[in-house]
Amino acid sequence: MNDHVLVINAGSSSLKYSLIDAGSGEAAAAGVVERIGEPEGVFRHRGPDGETRTTRPIGSHEDALRAAIDAFEEHGPSLDGIEIAAVGHRVVHGGSRFGDPALINEDLIDEVSDLVPLAPLHNPANLEGMRVAGRLFPDLPQVAVFDTAFHQTLPPEAYTYAVPRGWLAEHGIRRYGFHGTSHAFVSEQAAQLLGREPADVNVIVLHLGNGCSAAAVRGGKSVDTSMGLTPLEGLVMGTRSGDVDPAIHAYLAREAGLSLDEIDHALNFESGLKGLAGENDFRELSRQREAGDEQARLAFDVYCYRIRKYVGAYYSVLGKVDAIVFTAGVGQNSAEVRSASLEGLEGLGIEIDAERNAESSDEARAVSTKDSRVAVLVIPTNEEWQIAREALKLVRS
Ligand code: ADP
Repeated sequence: MNDHVLVINAGSSSLKYSLIDAGSGEAAAAGVVERIGEPEGVFRHRGPDGETRTTRPIGSHEDALRAAIDAFEEHGPSLDGIEIAAVGHRVVHGGSRFGDPALINEDLIDEVSDLVPLAPLHNPANLEGMRVAGRLFPDLPQVAVFDTAFHQTLPPEAYTYAVPRGWLAEHGIRRYGFHGTSHAFVSEQAAQLLGREPADVNVIVLHLGNGCSAAAVRGGKSVDTSMGLTPLEGLVMGTRSGDVDPAIHAYLAREAGLSLDEIDHALNFESGLKGLAGENDFRELSRQREAGDEQARLAFDVYCYRIRKYVGAYYSVLGKVDAIVFTAGVGQNSAEVRSASLEGLEGLGIEIDAERNAESSDEARAVSTKDSRVAVLVIPTNEEWQIAREALKLVRS
């Protein structure tokens, strides 16, 4: 049986790809092309013989995917020797329309194009990836896997903003949620680690990467999540503010004369850890904090305090919580964030084991005490594998 899926994640000036065995999750090869359209493109391909890196101009996403195909031939594994079952595409915004992965055809491309206003930075690049892969792999089924899809199970009281009713029908104003592929993968892995069926387990997932989001997952289904109409709402992130008073926009426009675009840009790209401490890379922020930098300390405290508030909120949304899961770059690696966010919650049955928490490992593991009523887990996310699994399941169904 052939279980290989080529997973493509097209960004505005980058294209990531991996050839994954959807059964085992093993990547036969993976690579990334960055700075597409700039004078110096950077291309890395990791295959059976290790990693190769080249710099040269790469004009378009089509050139990027062609370069990837050439790299498979030159550095392996040869695509002639591997039957690929499907191409799986990460698509950021599926609106209310897509609760499941979908086969890519002209109608789907039109529907994803209609959603561009909701994700102007991401959906156009994702569409370009689909078009290019359709041209270069015309005989393979192409599948779109949406970042928003896992959260389509949110009940109306969780996804509805208390704003004029017509805004939903006229402008699609509601909470959609993002990082769904990661939340789906990690919550399923959590059930496995606990030795139970996903349907029997309630989990709070904390995806803490450059972007950060929390999700409340009841019996394998997302029932609330911190990102909203766009990926700006919720937790504090590398450069994004997360929750702010929505009156900030009008106030700054009136009092500081800032335009809406300037405010939007500042909240998305100049806020979060970067806004507070001038640094959005968490490792560097930690170094500054350890060296006694006051701004870095405040940024860290605000970051962890926001996580703690969402844990409390989702604890009461779920009623009973079996596990709290930390994932992505910061969640998997920062013992300080895990302990600072959950410190003092023994009354809620949440007890971190300091020694287990301090161990660094790439494996999925528990960092709570044996007696903790709620398991605290660290689980590496693997969005590419999840996309491969979902794409394969669709083409096999
Ligand atoms: P993305 O959202 O782009 O996929 P990642 O999940 O890779 O991001 O997370 C990136 C973040 O993880 C960065 O802020 C980085 O500093 C942080 N990070 C990576 N490794 C560590 C580490 N060992 N300790 C603390 N933070 C880390």
